[in-house]
Amino acid sequence: MRALLSDLVNLIYPQVCAACGKRLQRQEEVFCLVCEYTLPKTTYHLDPDNPVAKHFWGRVVLQNAAALYLFNKGERVQHLIHQLKYNGWKEVGIKAGQIYGRMLAETPSYSDVSLILPVPLHPDKKKKRGYNQSDCFAQGLSETMHIPWADNILLRNIFTESQTKKSRFERWENVESIFVISNPDAIRNKHILLVDDVITTGATIEACASVLLKTEGVKVSVAGMAHAT
Ligand SMILES: [Zn+2]
Repeated sequence: MRALLSDLVNLIYPQVCAACGKRLQRQEEVFCLVCEYTLPKTTYHLDPDNPVAKHFWGRVVLQNAAALYLFNKGERVQHLIHQLKYNGWKEVGIKAGQIYGRMLAETPSYSDVSLILPVPLHPDKKKKRGYNQSDCFAQGLSETMHIPWADNILLRNIFTESQTKKSRFERWENVESIFVISNPDAIRNKHILLVDDVITTGATIEACASVLLKTEGVKVSVAGMAHAT
């Protein structure tokens, strides 16, 4: 009966794959099976010298840095991230997080991760969008890694100002002061998995990690939903 009802709903409001746009079959959720298996995964988590990790060499000390998918303009991964960020499709982030969480849970260098923290969105942006897309990814990772996540520890200061007239050093100081830790006791001696949607230059991640690493005993690893080159 339930399956029949879901078929009926699907007939009236066809559910489509967030990546390729094709109609989903009954057992498929968010992504079609073809996309689930053929979206371009990086396998970076298996290689300590991967291109995402290399972004941070000489900038900040990370235990691991990797991303699930390769982001190429005009391709399916860009489409699915667009659905997550601009079309309110939160399940896309959760599903990608669940997929990556299963992979990271089997990777020894991630085995002592004990807390997942998403890169915070500017409060104005979060208010406008209604949610932080990195929270969705963190939630999915948390479900399959069986590790808690929190959105109230790593926070973004509210101020914004034009940074164009500042020197590079002043700009950096400014970037670092954007992020604050609400409760250092909650992260002390923890291996934190810092997560973001798309990793491009890594500047935001670097600023967040630098702030986290000021607390005693903290180790930081990074997981992105996609890597844009
Ligand atoms: Zn698909």
